[in-house]
Amino acid sequence: MKTIIALIILCLSFNSFSQNLSPEFNTPESSALIDSLSHYLTTLNSKENAVDITAEYWDTSKIKIDYNTEEKFPLHIQFKDSNYISPISRSKVITSRYGWRKGRAHKGIDIDLITGDSLFAMFDGVVRFANYSSGHGRTVVVRHHNGLETLYAHLSRYGVKENDTVVAGSYLGKGGTSGNARGSHLHLEMTYKGIPVHPESLLDFDENNNVRAKDLWITKTWTRPELHNSKRQSHLEIFSTEEAAIASMNKPARVYIVKKGDTLSRISSRNSTSIAALCKSNHMSRNSTLRIGQKLIIE
Ligand SMILES: [Zn+2]
Repeated sequence: MKTIIALIILCLSFNSFSQNLSPEFNTPESSALIDSLSHYLTTLNSKENAVDITAEYWDTSKIKIDYNTEEKFPLHIQFKDSNYISPISRSKVITSRYGWRKGRAHKGIDIDLITGDSLFAMFDGVVRFANYSSGHGRTVVVRHHNGLETLYAHLSRYGVKENDTVVAGSYLGKGGTSGNARGSHLHLEMTYKGIPVHPESLLDFDENNNVRAKDLWITKTWTRPELHNSKRQSHLEIFSTEEAAIASMNKPARVYIVKKGDTLSRISSRNSTSIAALCKSNHMSRNSTLRIGQKLIIE
């Protein structure tokens, strides 16, 4: 405790000292020193009540971890607060979303920034990876207390190292273009036990920095990039109960267009459904007449 108080005094006095200095002396190095001191303080602070999230599947040598577990859907993801800390200080402009992009899966979202912009941890956690990875460039991965990991890619400079404890808002490094990046941006991924989850299904990326809900049930749809388009925002469905999520998973509705010669019996057998289910979904009876071109919902 004494060290904490001593460091706070040191940090505060250094901070006010540097503000009184001439602009030439107020260099990025001195602000980096303040950053790292305050980072050290928050680290000390949060260690006091930390739950050990590094006990299992903790590998600081790999950007992605193979959990070897079959996760049961829907995934239950809980947040302690209804807000998160924005990874960048400027307003967030999404330049590419989670989804299919040029025939490949884009498993994160791209947020515009200028090289040298500071990046911040979105939630409390421990740095699992801070290293170069081909494609992602200089990358920091933080594991959080709810099982999520956030991945920050294309950095120009690291501000943390593996096993550092961070709190929401801790400085992680500077954004840039390292790795396979056409322009400077933050490539942000969110994974749950190794499964890449659509970040927009968890968080709202507007200026309010809200989580979608403190209790979220995530269906498989939000873990499959091929079902989303990186250029368009997907239609969001938020489930705050397990029942609602399961009901939606069991109901992949399709539209069937009635063709010449179709009968309810023929449509139901060819679409692996029942006449009763067809009638119920389309508010019709067994004796209703079908029209060519009529659209039927098949659930
Ligand atoms: Zn990206």
